[in-house]
Amino acid sequence: MPAPAKKTAAKKTTAARTPARKGAAAPAKPENKLAKLGLHNDMDLALHLPLRYEDETTLMTIGEAAMRGLQTVQVEGVVTKCDVQFRPRRQLIVTVGDDSGQLTMRFLNFYGSQQRQLAEGTRLRVRGELRHGFFGAEMVHPQYKVVNEGAPLPDVLTPVYPAGEGLSQAYLRKAIANALSRLDWHDTLPPSMLETLKLSPFEPAVRLLHNPPPDVDEHALIERSHPAWIRMKFDELLAQQLSLKRAQAARRAKTSRALPVTGRITAELIKVLPFKLTGAQERVLEEIRADLRESFPMQRLLQGDVGSGKTVVAALAAAQAIDSGCQAVLMAPTEILAEQHFRKIAAWMEPLDVGVAWLSGSQKKKEKTEALAHIESGAARLVVGTHALIQDTVQFENLGLVIVDEQHRFGVGQRLALRNKSFNPADPQADAAAVPHQLMMSATPIPRTLAMTYYADLEVSVIDELPPGRSPIVTRVIDQNRRDEVIERVHAAAQEGKQIYWVCPLIEESEALQLQTATDTHAALSAALPDLSIGLVHGRMKPVEKQIVMEGFSRGAIHVLVATTVIEVGVDVPNASLMVIEHAERFGLSQLHQLRGRVGRGSAASVCLLLYQGPLGGTAKQRLATMRETTDGFEIARRDLDIRGPGEFLGARQSGEAMLRFADLATDQWLVEKARDTAQALLQHAPDIVDRHLARWLGGREDFLKV
Ligand code: ADP
Ligand code: MG
Repeated sequence: MPAPAKKTAAKKTTAARTPARKGAAAPAKPENKLAKLGLHNDMDLALHLPLRYEDETTLMTIGEAAMRGLQTVQVEGVVTKCDVQFRPRRQLIVTVGDDSGQLTMRFLNFYGSQQRQLAEGTRLRVRGELRHGFFGAEMVHPQYKVVNEGAPLPDVLTPVYPAGEGLSQAYLRKAIANALSRLDWHDTLPPSMLETLKLSPFEPAVRLLHNPPPDVDEHALIERSHPAWIRMKFDELLAQQLSLKRAQAARRAKTSRALPVTGRITAELIKVLPFKLTGAQERVLEEIRADLRESFPMQRLLQGDVGSGKTVVAALAAAQAIDSGCQAVLMAPTEILAEQHFRKIAAWMEPLDVGVAWLSGSQKKKEKTEALAHIESGAARLVVGTHALIQDTVQFENLGLVIVDEQHRFGVGQRLALRNKSFNPADPQADAAAVPHQLMMSATPIPRTLAMTYYADLEVSVIDELPPGRSPIVTRVIDQNRRDEVIERVHAAAQEGKQIYWVCPLIEESEALQLQTATDTHAALSAALPDLSIGLVHGRMKPVEKQIVMEGFSRGAIHVLVATTVIEVGVDVPNASLMVIEHAERFGLSQLHQLRGRVGRGSAASVCLLLYQGPLGGTAKQRLATMRETTDGFEIARRDLDIRGPGEFLGARQSGEAMLRFADLATDQWLVEKARDTAQALLQHAPDIVDRHLARWLGGREDFLKV
């Protein structure tokens, strides 16, 4: 191994702490480790920017350093003593002195080679936090390097890079410095544009970030508000906006069957609905209708808080597809939810002579075969089901519209698989190039900036109004040891004719344990409330069993429904107006919001009791407080984003998130808007700039966006 690696083993504090692991590491090729960090070429390396910096540009005397309080300093001296001590524990004690004083370095873990390297008389440059300890002025695990007398100090700050396992800073620094010396530095943006946008040119910005001069505003560097950072973030966001718009253009170049007709089915469906659409429902429906009339595929996300009435909008979109002579499909993530959609929609549609088919994984073979035949022949105009719909055996006659409920529950691949089923390959007349329109629904509201930057090419419609006559839900946070009072309250509510959900704790580490808890809770409540009928529903029950229980609850025959999180999504029983959630501290915010949304659907005032087991951690406290303070799904999503950050908020499955390394959507919203406007202008007037910019910033990564 060449020199850099050796120097690093000695230089890096962490290396000194974990000698065993380092020592044992197989000598994997450093180039492979670079590739693991996504660093394949010079530009990748140039855009691998430091996390922070170390100031090695100045030296202090040991005497001076000892006078300062606790802070990181760099000193230089000669080793006067180097010993292994065994009390109070085994450690390497090295004394270094200069004309002004002495300093003790302590290493609790060390290599034998280190002891040899630090022999008496060796000159060292030592950097670390100086404290006054048992040995006088001391540094524990400082960084150090062996130097010759009069060795020059660096004149720029030393970058510290994000590094992978076993990849040393020294190796990275060298690789990056080499890359910078070879780089094609052309600016992708013309000077006039930089001037208008008040942006730094590319080369000086990148160079400054790697090797900032000592007088740089270090705070601005760390906060990433320095103009050099702004240029990086802008370029990154611009690349993202450009590729989003390109994806959009590519979608528009595809063909779909236009679904222009709103005829008999639509009109009659509106007539049989037991309510009038809200203004918000009318508005989003108009947006969807306009998309469906086009002969390129719709890709629209319908967002609406829990209970805002997305199902009926979906049904009306399906009606338009059917009126236009195509089939529509609705896929939901759980059996309970899909089944409920099926019942509701079949009850609306079947009297209008529309064939509705049901498809699920647990279906009996005969029923399934029959459903598949109807789907293929086109007798079924609307198909509702779970992800069983994605299977190869499912063949549509002419699918025009795909609707995915609770879309965030599905992976990108699953959604694509359903979309690819638009036609029957056995039919020579079929238009193999046609892609069905796609409507996705979600109750997890995604703040606008996130939607704009994280989702691939997606139009968004928002239902921002609840149906009339809903009364607000009051939420209380209650200590678990007051469970008896809560049971009393459940009893009183049931006697008033209300129905109750009792949600069992989430036990992520063990499904078996979770089932056990649900069964135990059911037994305990049945014993405590002998005059009430208590039902139990959990994920491991057979679908028919689940269905019997859910139906009993819908009819009002069951007073209290003990449930695991299977009821989280979509279940709709308007007479349920009390919800108890046990161990609420274990749930995430959006999950709590979804659960709570099961009540407050009728006109009765609803209550949600969040039982918790103290003591609560910081984020759990924040989550429960948020639930108590607001029922507004958008506000909850916003706070969730604050608590968790965008990556986690959207989950690893979502596209696009791998794209943003530098920009932070919480602070850089203004830049997102700038980038969007610039992207628009460039696409119109300067396609060559677009190509260059995308090549630099995305390389081969554009696929993240093609969803
Ligand atoms: P979500 O948006 O959570 O999927 P649903 O579609 O399940 O909401 O609707 C929630 C409840 O509101 C259902 O009982 C539904 O029938 C009812 N609903 C939907 N739209 C209206 C409306 N315009 N007026 C009154 N009730 C409505
Ligand atoms: Mg729903």
